[in-house]
Amino acid sequence: MASITMKHMKKSYDNKTYAVKNLNLDIKDKEFIVFVGPSGCGKSTTLRMIAGLEDITDGELYIGDRLVNQVPPKDRDIAMVFQNYALYPHMNVYDNMAFGLKMRKFKKDEIKKRVNEAARILGLEDYLNRKPKALSGGQRQRVALGRAIVRDPQVFLMDEPLSNLDAKLRVQMRSEISKLHQRLQTTTIYVTHDQTEAMTMATRIVVMKDGAIQQVGSPKEVYDSP
Ligand code: ADP
Ligand code: ADP
Repeated sequence: MASITMKHMKKSYDNKTYAVKNLNLDIKDKEFIVFVGPSGCGKSTTLRMIAGLEDITDGELYIGDRLVNQVPPKDRDIAMVFQNYALYPHMNVYDNMAFGLKMRKFKKDEIKKRVNEAARILGLEDYLNRKPKALSGGQRQRVALGRAIVRDPQVFLMDEPLSNLDAKLRVQMRSEISKLHQRLQTTTIYVTHDQTEAMTMATRIVVMKDGAIQQVGSPKEVYDSP
């Protein structure tokens, strides 16, 4: 678990225009921050800079006390969950969840323990030998979540993880992700354009517009404000 601090953080893809302009934000340890805002306002770019998948053009990013601008993704202790799940199609559920740990040279017994625990939490025990194509959308998203939680990272980043699910599953997974956060208390940044998700899940909401923060506040402050 860790705090995240952005100081004057900027991103330009073309050295002329800024996709993200001068972001200043302090995220406390254990918070569940939801980023909202119209398409193209810079939410994904911000997440990708935190993950290390995009260079930071200017400014500073700290995870805990550590300046991470130059730290590669694999050394940031962050797990990311994507809208399209990004599972390995040729691997079964067990191996999909184990992969990141194998890459990081975890011992086999530890991998087994973590994967089985995650499978239990996410209700995937009966699906460990299935390939992703033999799973429902909700099950696939649980595998993607499982792959993130087995790593027990300092930070979770989730980029519209529920937007490929139907309305009923979205409601269910929303509450499962909230419960997961109550249980693990991992600092989380969650991107969505679903107002209900933002209102029900966030400790604080960050409203972005045109690459800048427009408002930061509790769900009540953001959605009850005139
Ligand atoms: P959001 O996630 O809020 O929809 P993005 O962060 O994806 O917004 O995009 C912010 C801006 O940056 C948009 O104008 C988008 O076109 C631009 N952008 C995003 N990714 C790239 C890229 N790889 N190359 C150039 N421009 C990009
Ligand atoms: P290895 O990594 O040498 O293949 P393991 O005993 O770790 O040996 O696992 C063998 C395979 O069995 C794994 O690749 C995985 O697909 C599957 N597997 C391991 N543990 C479980 C489990 N608890 N439930 C379902 N499948 C499992």
